[in-house]
Amino acid sequence: MKITVVGAGRLGAQIGYTIAQRGLADELVFVDIFEDLAQGQAEDVGQSVAFSHETAVRSGDYETAKDSDIVIITAGKPRTPDMKTRMNLVKANRPIIEDIAKEIVRTSPNAIIITLSNPMDLMNYLVWKATGFPRERVIGSGGQLDSARLKYVLAGKLDAPPARIEAFILGEHGDHQVPVFSRLKTYGKKYEMTEGEAEKVFEATRLASMSVIEKKKGTEFAPASGTADMVESIVRDQKKVIPCSVVLDGEYGITGVSMGVPCVLGKGGCEKVEEWVLTDFEAKKMKDCGDALKEVVGDL
Ligand code: NAD
Repeated sequence: MKITVVGAGRLGAQIGYTIAQRGLADELVFVDIFEDLAQGQAEDVGQSVAFSHETAVRSGDYETAKDSDIVIITAGKPRTPDMKTRMNLVKANRPIIEDIAKEIVRTSPNAIIITLSNPMDLMNYLVWKATGFPRERVIGSGGQLDSARLKYVLAGKLDAPPARIEAFILGEHGDHQVPVFSRLKTYGKKYEMTEGEAEKVFEATRLASMSVIEKKKGTEFAPASGTADMVESIVRDQKKVIPCSVVLDGEYGITGVSMGVPCVLGKGGCEKVEEWVLTDFEAKKMKDCGDALKEVVGDL
């Protein structure tokens, strides 16, 4: 299994490290416009695997990355505390993402791509467009992270560790997140919140990333763990249901935008989009999310 991480910055390095620690790759390649940085990350991660796995870690260009099974895109500008929304990154990150997409088509035409660069849903849509790959092989990472943040916020409230809470966020990795409170469970039992409680929890979840960015300039551990879960489900063909961004084709009544939906992840990528029964409120939020993203896609 050959996995390449394009963008060896804060997030890319952490994703590479997490993948190596979980033993998910035989070969791991870092690519960055700053070759020294990519090399430094490869050396550091390469030295870390001496304690655990047999992953060969290197850095290089797209030729080094040739015939990767999975390519993870984390290249581009990150959000800063002065940015109200990830949408502010469209202009800077679009050309970067489109260039990378072309290189992947040229050198790893059978790869499954996982997009993280923000605004992730839009960037994933652009990668899908630019590569012409089937949608199963172009998957955005963000929903798993948002769901983890929801669990983190709920943990204090429900007096249960986050890992014992089942909670999902669909929709955009951004302002149009859709919390699916109707599927909320703690220790396997359904948990119902009042509307007021749900609103407070949702707001705290929405602000969770900015709180980290303000304090340490960027997020890394949580998005890396969520992405590694996606990679693991693909590599080990686990068929886990994970909220990921994929281009929709009528699911939830939405077509032609990439947004977060429950995906069955296996060796073929997003092998199936599950259509959950949602409350009217949740279904309307999904529709609003699709409409909002469609408007931006139209502008692009
Ligand atoms: P960073 O600045 O630390 O790293 C970005 C790296 O991309 C840099 O090393 C830069 O040299 C490299 N790069 C730029 N253009 C490139 C190109 N054409 N080819 C290869 N490499 C290139 O930023 P970061 O904190 O690692 O964040 C990276 C991206 O991931 C940002 O857009 C950020 O908003 C996003 N992000 C997404 C999630 C998510 O869950 N989807 C979470 C955190 C961050």
